[in-house]
Amino acid sequence: MTSLRKRVLSGMQPSGLLHLGNYLGALENWKQLQAEYECYFFVADWHALSTNYADTSRIREFVRELLIDWLAAGIDPNRSTVFIQSRIPEHAILHLLFSMMIPISWLERNPTYKEKQEEIKGKDLSTYGFLGYPVLQAADILLYKPDYVPVGKDQLPHLELTREVARRFNDLYKQPVFPEPKEHLTKFPKVLGTDGRKMSKSYGNTINLSDSEPVVRQKLKTMVTDPARVKRMDPGNPDICPVFDFHKIFSTLPVIEQINRECRTAEIGCIDCKKLVADRVVEKLAPIWDARTKLLKNPGHLDEVVEEGSRKARAVAKATLHDVTEAMKI
Ligand code: SF4
Repeated sequence: MTSLRKRVLSGMQPSGLLHLGNYLGALENWKQLQAEYECYFFVADWHALSTNYADTSRIREFVRELLIDWLAAGIDPNRSTVFIQSRIPEHAILHLLFSMMIPISWLERNPTYKEKQEEIKGKDLSTYGFLGYPVLQAADILLYKPDYVPVGKDQLPHLELTREVARRFNDLYKQPVFPEPKEHLTKFPKVLGTDGRKMSKSYGNTINLSDSEPVVRQKLKTMVTDPARVKRMDPGNPDICPVFDFHKIFSTLPVIEQINRECRTAEIGCIDCKKLVADRVVEKLAPIWDARTKLLKNPGHLDEVVEEGSRKARAVAKATLHDVTEAMKI
């Protein structure tokens, strides 16, 4: 039976443990989307190889942890299709077929190609797979013919490339096989890490969904603050303090206003201020921790979810690939 709901597709790479930034930036949005759309969420494990091909030792663990975090955070497999990219060989086949028709210049002009090559140190990214990852991304998306893809503004050029791939295919083979997916623009809140830089696995400054309560409290306790506030009686400036950014995300308006006032007059100290925000973060994470514990006790459930999700996804992917090979007459 064809669903009447519009379809959304999104994925994440299993390149480490999920942190608060991922939760607030993507998962909270996914949770809302599944109420309105027919959602397909996939673990992009082949994508992770585009930068982590040399060390795959923890990839299975990361795939599993990612799935546990998704379900614990509220992704509902009864409403959304949850699957793993590498279980669906059609992704690789469509990638191969697209790679025959995509000009290299399209990939070289991709703004993140050069940026990432410079940003990620210590890895040789002058590979065929890294240059071609937008082609794999286009295959990942177009296989499911989604109406929308949730993206932040910075990812719009990637989605445009996917649309160009769709147009090129349809033009070449004179068949409207691929509808062009639209963007579902997502506003990502600015989540800083414990060192005041952007929260990121590569900086080692994350608060992970799988961290225990004592770990979360300890990380927040040692979080950097306004560097000019050395002594308790020194007035602070919340505008340049990463702890205050956390308050803006997690605390109520009266508390935010209180901190904004009392920090500047040194009425509140950083230890108390951090304790207030730690209580809110713990409150937010507690239901996720409970759900994680239940999932970890029942590993068979996760296997069933992936099995069923991958079966459903594969049926869609197979049908699309059939349209593709018919259009190409191969
Ligand atoms: S009181 Fe709070 S907002 Fe002010 S500097 Fe300390 S931690 Fe930052």
